[in-house]
Amino acid sequence: MKILVITHKVTQNPESNLFNVFGAVKKLSGQCDVLVVGHNLGSIVDEIAKYKVVSKVLKLDDASLEHILVENIAKQISEIVGGYTHVLIAADSFGKNLLPRVAGILELGQISEVSAVISPNIYQKFIYAGNVLVEVEALDDIKLLTIRCTSFNEHLDLRDTQAEVEEIQYTNIISNKIKFVTINIDNKPVDLSNAKVVVTGGRSLGSKEAFDTNIRELAKCLNAGVGSTRAAVEAGYANNDAQVGQTGKIVAPLVYLAFGVSGAVQHIAGMKDSKTVIAINIDQNAPIFEYADYGLVGDLFEVIPQLLLRLQQF
Ligand SMILES: Cc1cc2nc3c(=O)[nH]c(=O)nc-3n(C[C@H](O)[C@H](O)[C@H](O)COP(=O)(O)OP(=O)(O)OC[C@H]3O[C@@H](n4cnc5c(N)ncnc54)[C@H](O)[C@@H]3O)c2cc1C
Repeated sequence: MKILVITHKVTQNPESNLFNVFGAVKKLSGQCDVLVVGHNLGSIVDEIAKYKVVSKVLKLDDASLEHILVENIAKQISEIVGGYTHVLIAADSFGKNLLPRVAGILELGQISEVSAVISPNIYQKFIYAGNVLVEVEALDDIKLLTIRCTSFNEHLDLRDTQAEVEEIQYTNIISNKIKFVTINIDNKPVDLSNAKVVVTGGRSLGSKEAFDTNIRELAKCLNAGVGSTRAAVEAGYANNDAQVGQTGKIVAPLVYLAFGVSGAVQHIAGMKDSKTVIAINIDQNAPIFEYADYGLVGDLFEVIPQLLLRLQQF
């Protein structure tokens, strides 16, 4: 068995999802190579090379990868994965964007959102909005797996000496169909997938302004990630990457605060592993209360200002 984990540079530190993927590696064989893609990867590579689970770090570092477009790396990565039996990547937006392209190029199947490893070929994953757990067997020679990070949390030992690092030359296959123009990062928001606290707002916020002044403001005070229902995304109150649920992100924070969220099954699928759920809804029969550890029947437009007032006193 030869395992490759793929990751990329998001911040100066390795993405914490990577450590959950290492948890899946431990369930498979315990050793992997890690391919890191991006630019100025020095400190990230050093950090990754510290872990016992890592045999070798492959560094694909190029100035043109400062803002990665997966269209421009999928071909080269599909060549690199040829030497491996298993390829693992976090089921975040990068992984979900990249790995299907690699699968397409290599004409391989992909198993998405693996939540448990049963054997080297057999994995568990949820279907039907998290209501059914299935075991699936991968029959291809190279198993391409996206990993549901909230399902793996293993202790990781450090190595005595750093793992070997191999530099890989970027082959620079630039797509003429897409190009990077600009990036607009909204005040360095807390990463939703890894946030310890998530504050989510639903359709009931009624406008983007109300979403910003209530949900975002509260999230800022609590150093929390901002979540949203699909209804709120479709109404334009939040961006698509804030959506929690079956077709959005899967989160499992210590505390999940849901304001004006009805609790549709598709939303629950994305947050039901949260340690403590606090729901505030005007309707005492809202389904979200069935999943809540603490529920408050109340108007979010009264509750949030009171909460903000209290928090701002600290
Ligand atoms: C294939 C498919 C995939 C989907 N994927 C997702 C997904 O990934 N994520 C997702 O979220 N949804 C998803 N949906 C949509 C989902 O079915 C629901 O429509 C959506 O989650 C509802 O969002 P909501 O709770 O904001 O709105 P609503 O269901 O309209 O609920 C609004 C809630 O706000 C409460 N409320 C109203 N005013 C106030 C107030 N002033 N204070 C407090 N409470 C108030 C109401 O009582 C109500 O419970 C999907 C649907 C389909 C069909």
